[in-house]
Amino acid sequence: MSDKIERVKTLIIGSGPAGYTAAIYAARADLKPVMYTGMEPGGQLTTTTEVDNFPGYPEGIDGPTMMVQLQQQAERFGTEVRIGMITSVEFSKEKGGIHKVVADGEKQIEAETIIISTGASAKYLNIPSEQRLRGGGVSACAVCDGFFYKGQDVAIVGAGDTAAEEASYLANICNKVTMLVRRDEMRASKAMQHRVHSLKNIDVRYNTEVDEILGEQVVEGLRMVNNQTGEKEEIAITGIFIAIGHKPNTDIFKGQLDMDETGYLITQGKSTKTNLPGVFASGDAQDKEYRQAVTAAGSGCMAALDAERYLASIGSVEEAIADKY
Ligand code: NDP
Repeated sequence: MSDKIERVKTLIIGSGPAGYTAAIYAARADLKPVMYTGMEPGGQLTTTTEVDNFPGYPEGIDGPTMMVQLQQQAERFGTEVRIGMITSVEFSKEKGGIHKVVADGEKQIEAETIIISTGASAKYLNIPSEQRLRGGGVSACAVCDGFFYKGQDVAIVGAGDTAAEEASYLANICNKVTMLVRRDEMRASKAMQHRVHSLKNIDVRYNTEVDEILGEQVVEGLRMVNNQTGEKEEIAITGIFIAIGHKPNTDIFKGQLDMDETGYLITQGKSTKTNLPGVFASGDAQDKEYRQAVTAAGSGCMAALDAERYLASIGSVEEAIADKY
């Protein structure tokens, strides 16, 4: 490979369900997509076990297998999947302009269109017992993993709309849900708080934090601490859900793309268009509401269609693309 700057029609940044679906559609539209997977190829679903809510898998499928299959499907139509990171970007502001990116800190790439599907990362408490038991009863997604705790006692940490919604979801499945709120009130909307308090099997503990999650291989219990009195209490649980927010992986786009105060990319209307022509955003990087594999996949499809239409509108033709290497 020479040092010549590589030129691609469509560069996809990130490899979760949004990125792979964008790749499938872009490859089939002959956009010859090149994908950079990021540090966690396959994205958040590679950290979950069984995926039971993605349509088309009546027996469920484990997250890592699903991501391998999505990659194979994208490659089948000619997507070039590269394990690596896009480390900086310099987007063009002009319609038809060329976007410049650097991969792995050294390789320069120019792209006519960019599809961002960098996802979001769940925030964790970052205590050792939590890290040790991730996948062994510690989860950051009640909708994904709650079903495994049917009829059991679980806990949830957090007090925002996500925590309230997930606590209510778990209350329908589990025997008892202990909800740990670190302040003396919840951040969640009043309607969501009301829902939580109306469910008899949710035990809300205010001013309460996790002291330690108990268990060696799997979660067996929880030691809580009241941050006002210092009093500690142990309860038996088999699962604990961390619902203290997500962080979209959009730091490298700061200053170039419009984003909200928490870093979610802003797209225009029902499209995946960002504020810059030829740059499209899909999946959790632009969606804090739904955050499901299937909705991410849907928006990945939309991004590829938007990219295809954009390329047609600027009259991009194959001959205009320089040799790739
Ligand atoms: P939020 O940032 O709104 O809430 C995070 C919660 O986690 C806060 O209550 C915070 O506590 C708590 N928290 C943070 N760090 C810790 C910690 N180390 N230990 C214990 N608790 C901690 O995130 P959400 O994911 O709940 O919501 C994100 C956005 O999405 C919000 O705008 C929300 O309204 C929206 N949303 C809307 C929904 C809907 O409308 N149906 C559903 C889900 C989300 P504290 O309050 O003390 O800071």
